[in-house]
Amino acid sequence: MNIPLLDLHAQLHPLREEIGLAVARVIDSAQYIQGPDVMALEAEIAAYSGVEHAIGVSSGTDALLVCLMALGVGPGDQVVTTPYSFFATMGVILRLGAEPVFADIDPVTYNLNPERLGEILAADSGHRIKAILPVHLYGQCADMTPIMQLASEYCLPVIEDAAQAIGAQYPGAGALGQGWVRAGSMGLAGCFSFFPSKNLGGMGDGGMVVCRDPEFARQVRLLRNHGAEPKYYHSMVGGNFRLDTLQAAILRIKLRHLEKWHAARRANARRYGQLFVESGLSENGLLGVPAAVYEDVAGSGGGDVNYHIYNQYVIRVKERDELLCHLQSRGIGCEIYYPVSLHQQQCLGPDFKASALPCSEEAAAQTLALPIYPELTREMQEHVVREIAVFYQRT
Ligand SMILES: *Cc1c(COP(=O)(O)O)cnc(C)c1O
Repeated sequence: MNIPLLDLHAQLHPLREEIGLAVARVIDSAQYIQGPDVMALEAEIAAYSGVEHAIGVSSGTDALLVCLMALGVGPGDQVVTTPYSFFATMGVILRLGAEPVFADIDPVTYNLNPERLGEILAADSGHRIKAILPVHLYGQCADMTPIMQLASEYCLPVIEDAAQAIGAQYPGAGALGQGWVRAGSMGLAGCFSFFPSKNLGGMGDGGMVVCRDPEFARQVRLLRNHGAEPKYYHSMVGGNFRLDTLQAAILRIKLRHLEKWHAARRANARRYGQLFVESGLSENGLLGVPAAVYEDVAGSGGGDVNYHIYNQYVIRVKERDELLCHLQSRGIGCEIYYPVSLHQQQCLGPDFKASALPCSEEAAAQTLALPIYPELTREMQEHVVREIAVFYQRT
């Protein structure tokens, strides 16, 4: 049985006709740049995230970049972030001539550890740190309550890298009520990616910045379009960071299915958990399966509040590279997110100094993402777990 890590065909099939019609409508409108679908998608994502403003941009990377540009981050400045993320999180800091400072991760959630963040902020006597950039890795929010407390104590803006976490929830009082708030709505701004493998994926690149603050929204909107307002009058230097009308039209159709897809991923995650227990793997080989850690503190009663949207379902094993080879040889797609901690990336050069980040380094050596996409069937999951069991019977 061949099981890909992600099967976009399965998702496309039922939507193909509707998407085709929407694409044809945009083609016929000839409004390819900043067309009405961009504005409509912005309003829909703002409402979905429980914030007032959303600005469509060209990618998740550009969403992060434009937020740091709006904050004026530049040479000599530092930005605190997690060492365990996709490269873009650190890349945008470096591109602006600033320096990343890494707070090691929590070994269970793989997200920035607020205690390490506190230590770093306390040691910043020269006030070089200009922003905090937590990532909601794999679709689960970082522990934002203590992070936001530290941010307010040190008067620092927080930009959420929610590229993998659109729709993820975290306990808190917000515009949506019900004791939870959505990823991207807690900091000064949140950044989403519509890369095809994200839970809300386009058919190409795209991204979105969401925020509450009207002045910050205005800045991001200006920077997205070369800092021009009105046209050809440039009050600042921005870039071309626009979202295509075509992508917006496609994403609007997919957005209507997003909650259903999150629910299916969550159900698949639960099922993996059961299958691992039944197979004895939980005590025997597996060092860790994903834990939805905020589930119990929701205070919303039912315990069924969505927090982790499982953009990735990541297990932790000692024999990671061997298991990866075994599963791939059996036609099971799996992948390492991410094999190198950011502080050890070659592009940082020999002069870059980071203190030891043992939790991030250990994660880079042990994590393995398994197929979790919404259309995955029980039989497929049973097959994945069976093959993992076969691997451990051999070793
Ligand atoms: C995907 C991703 C990005 C970048 O998004 P793009 O749309 O690919 O530019 C940034 N940060 C994280 C954590 C991501 O997973």
